[in-house]
Amino acid sequence: MNEFVYDALPGRILFGRGARRRAEAEVSALGCQRLMVIADLQAAGVAHEVISRLGTAVAATRIGVQQHVPEPLAAGARTEARQAGADGLLSIGGGSATGLSKAVAVETGIPIIAIPTTYAGSEMTPIWGLTGEHKKTGRDLRALPKVVLYDPELTVGLPAGVSASSGFNAIAHCVEALYAKGANPVTSLQAAEGIRALASSLPRVVAVPEDLEARSDALYGAYLAGSALAVAGTALHHKACHVLGGTWGLVHGDVNAVLLAHVVAYNAQAVPDAISRVAVALGVAGGDAAGALFDLAQAIGAPTSLAELGLPEDVLEQAAARIVAETGASNPRLVDTDSVLRLLERAYAGSRPEPG
Ligand code: NAD
Repeated sequence: MNEFVYDALPGRILFGRGARRRAEAEVSALGCQRLMVIADLQAAGVAHEVISRLGTAVAATRIGVQQHVPEPLAAGARTEARQAGADGLLSIGGGSATGLSKAVAVETGIPIIAIPTTYAGSEMTPIWGLTGEHKKTGRDLRALPKVVLYDPELTVGLPAGVSASSGFNAIAHCVEALYAKGANPVTSLQAAEGIRALASSLPRVVAVPEDLEARSDALYGAYLAGSALAVAGTALHHKACHVLGGTWGLVHGDVNAVLLAHVVAYNAQAVPDAISRVAVALGVAGGDAAGALFDLAQAIGAPTSLAELGLPEDVLEQAAARIVAETGASNPRLVDTDSVLRLLERAYAGSRPEPG
């Protein structure tokens, strides 16, 4: 065993059907008496169900969030939290609801309790994101939820398209966790198991959305994915997704689904051991991980080309330059504008990556 460093993160996880019904006990264990609830519009029903049990503990409610956390939205939510005298945040929804809660928590220092309803995995990380002219991200322990309630029943209504694309976001967390700078043997175990759980469950989730067994496996994979990424960090893939999504308003999960196979093809020779673990976890041991990821995206109906996401082709050069600047030395294979541009062109065309 080689030497390693593991900066473990704190957090309490309750996983299982009906876990949302344990919110009241968790809120009172944290000592919160004036909660601000931040929920996705699509999760409003669940939010009202949880709020009705919390009763007087709720001091403010904001239903409605946006991807990439626009700065004005964050500023408004912080003001609401301060005016309500909130001493805790209850986030209900996907990465956008968690992201807005993080933007409030980082400034106010109040704790987050998260009830995720997609597979984005943000609830396991101390990484926040905020979008002005460009998207910026940072790391702050105040952004890491204190308690996460994973309830697979809440994901049953998640449309197949969102399940597939946010599921791909989770697979991408696992893939980059296998080779990012902070990777260690424990995060690699989580990442490999996360890929296995997601790759085997997403086809079932998409085929039969109400299959609770499949939904549980996918949510478990998303949990592992967020945990691994939170410690190991990210590289080219995530930087590229933030640049494209944040600058041109693309759906985060969709960009993930399109780019991941191409980034894996790009990195394959630089980190062969990590990529062969990806292949094993995808069920193609000794085979082509990049091709298998492309095939999985197609099989579950996730997008496979930047063109179909509506990205204008004439921004690729500008995007490549920004991605190189954002990636810096975080990727195991060095990046330059030409190679990233070629990668983006292949992703734009939606062609299956060639082995090697
Ligand atoms: P999202 O939260 O925007 O949700 C995607 C879609 O699913 C939305 O249309 C939403 O309304 C809908 N939805 C959510 N829950 C639903 C439910 N239960 N039923 C039906 N529809 C539902 O997107 P996401 O993919 O969950 O997260 C993406 C965002 O999170 C991006 O901004 C991304 O940058 C961020 N993110 C951050 C981290 C991190 O560590 N900081 C990690 C992953 C993603």
